[in-house]
Amino acid sequence: MKLWFWRVVRRRIRGKRKRKTPARNKKHFALHKEMARDSVHTRLAHFNEHYKLPVGRVAIRNQKTRWGSCSKLGNLNFNYRLALIHPELADYVVVHELCHIKEFNHSQKFWDMVAEKVPDHRIHRAELKKVFHLASA
Ligand SMILES: [Zn+2]
Repeated sequence: MKLWFWRVVRRRIRGKRKRKTPARNKKHFALHKEMARDSVHTRLAHFNEHYKLPVGRVAIRNQKTRWGSCSKLGNLNFNYRLALIHPELADYVVVHELCHIKEFNHSQKFWDMVAEKVPDHRIHRAELKKVFHLASA
């Protein structure tokens, strides 16, 4: 293969590589991670008294673009910034991911399930989109 080709390929790979997390963000994460873990576990237990779903592993992460996620195995990831936003909004994220354990989609059935505990989920969802950059380090 010609050399220019590899140069282009290498540049493409490099361009897609994630930027390194700045040191101040790492520190911010370390400071709030345990706080987020405590409240996420407490709120999960609280809401799961109602839903009674098999929760897998729970991890607190330093995600750039998501508040939370759920894997097909029922493992849940939450953004550490949940510790920094209004508790009602954080509760919505917890319930949202919890409900994905049963409904791995955003169907009407899923939203009905979320609404059992968070009837105002539409408002919270809109609010969360606005708040993300404010909570970012
Ligand atoms: Zn979702």
